[in-house]
Amino acid sequence: MTAAQGARLLIVGPQGSGKGTQGVRIAEAFGIPAISTGDMFRAAIASGSELGTQVTEIIQAGNLVPDELTTAVVRDRLAQADAAHGFLLDGYPRNIGQVGDLDEFLGGRGEELDAVIELVVPREESIERLTVRAQEQGRNDDTEQIIANRLAIYERETAPILDVYRERGVVDEIDGVGTLDEITARVIAALEQRGLMRSAAA
Ligand code: ADP
Repeated sequence: MTAAQGARLLIVGPQGSGKGTQGVRIAEAFGIPAISTGDMFRAAIASGSELGTQVTEIIQAGNLVPDELTTAVVRDRLAQADAAHGFLLDGYPRNIGQVGDLDEFLGGRGEELDAVIELVVPREESIERLTVRAQEQGRNDDTEQIIANRLAIYERETAPILDVYRERGVVDEIDGVGTLDEITARVIAALEQRGLMRSAAA
């Protein structure tokens, strides 16, 4: 794999694992767009679009947006020019059904994921970080009960997707405890081990 081919990455981790922050850093290092479904939905809600209206209540309750809707949003985004040579997905796929949807879409382009970064963070640590974030950012899906719902959904629906990707040999387990720079360096080292190249500009 050469730098010109880019990298097709997915970052997975429980709420509060820091995957959003790390996702942006890794995407920058590899010169690819970071595509976060959570960010796209929040932007849609903020803009008052039809999509925003459809997902507001679901997200406030900490439940998952229906697969068809989420998959449609991701397909549109991946079809944009900047994702032609690589991308980092954050928050999608989030269940086994979405793994199938993504396989189908990428397969149609003759592509597959090069690596899946699993950020490993102990439960108490992620809860602690989420509580701090709730106070700082005032995200209204960050109340204690809703956080518990989102973590339960993660364990039930999202964690199993890692088994699928593990069987394909593409998962890199990264210790998500440390400074932001330490964790970014760990991820980059693991991706470089796979022969994925950082972009020259980064
Ligand atoms: P977190 O990982 O902290 O729960 P995200 O920013 O990734 O937050 O997502 C926020 C919310 O957006 C989720 O709780 C869910 O309602 C919705 N969402 C994001 N990605 C997906 C997805 N792939 N499928 C269904 N719903 C999603």
